[in-house]
Amino acid sequence: MEWRIATYASHSALQILKGAKDEGFGTIAFGKERVKPLYTKYFPVADEFLVGEYPEEELLEKGAIVIPHGSFVAHLGIEKVESMKVPYYGNKAVLRWESDRELERKWLEKAKLKLPKVYDDPDEIDKPVIVKFHGAKGGKGYFLAKDSKDFWEKARRIGIKSKESLKEIQIQEYIIGVPVYPHYFYSKLNEELELMSIDRRYETNVDGIGRILAKDQFELSLENSYVVVGNFPIVLRESLLMEVIEMGERVIRAAKGLIGGLWGPFCLETILTDELEFVVFEISARIVAGTNPFIEGSPYTWIRYNKPVSTGRRIAMEIKQAIEEDSIDEILT
Ligand code: ATP
Repeated sequence: MEWRIATYASHSALQILKGAKDEGFGTIAFGKERVKPLYTKYFPVADEFLVGEYPEEELLEKGAIVIPHGSFVAHLGIEKVESMKVPYYGNKAVLRWESDRELERKWLEKAKLKLPKVYDDPDEIDKPVIVKFHGAKGGKGYFLAKDSKDFWEKARRIGIKSKESLKEIQIQEYIIGVPVYPHYFYSKLNEELELMSIDRRYETNVDGIGRILAKDQFELSLENSYVVVGNFPIVLRESLLMEVIEMGERVIRAAKGLIGGLWGPFCLETILTDELEFVVFEISARIVAGTNPFIEGSPYTWIRYNKPVSTGRRIAMEIKQAIEEDSIDEILT
């Protein structure tokens, strides 16, 4: 059978399908009818567009391999992704580990990454914290608190009055620094980690608040929010790159022991402090939208490949290699 590369029409689909075409694959996008022209006319990366959230039968008939991304998993939900029959690139077992804050922490701790301290008891808050709500989209409702008194004042305003109602939230040490999101690719076939690119997000309102004078900020009583609207490329100080790579290697090693492996693209969400220490607050175990500025490749992939290799194209290269080596079953679940 001739394999085709398919993905849900959103997030990083332009990149994934462009990369697949560059490697000679037939491509399929599926999703909402309204966006069909985006993928077939304005940016003609999809040979075919199927309308539907996840048209399983058609995808199976057409020999599709689905490349997962954040919007696909969010639309379908983890249970449906776990039970889907269409071949899926990557290890589905990681979905549980990254969506459960405790499992995720266990994994990142095993990888010996520096993580923000988590406070189970708000009365123990002894430094600035960020208070996160489970499942909050775009950091909606997240707030900062400087000590326990400040925490309880702000928490009461949103209906958290006692320690019994803390299950909905996580209180994390607020790390002062800049966000840095390295994107990796782990080739299961070659047993090799690659650094693909690095980004930071453009988030409203946090990135807009600095455009308003401090005195007006007070008067307007603004709230922080972190709704992502785009991504900026970052080229990191070269002296930090070895650390970035070693962090990725440790994540891969820890995943081998805990989850049966992590392969394909993944990203560490970090804050880099003025001590030049990376503090990791999340892992995304698949392609992230932060790779989108690099459809023509990044400085790092240019050095390695001497041709424009995006993360989307790298995925297609891996699938092509697996087909040629007759080991496609090793990388699909
Ligand atoms: P995602 O889509 O990655 O799940 P989210 O909307 O759930 O994101 P987080 O990524 O948890 O939200 O956090 C939103 C923003 O808050 C981040 O982009 C980062 O800038 C900031 N942030 C998160 N945790 C910390 C922390 N411990 N210290 C400092 N800043 C943080």
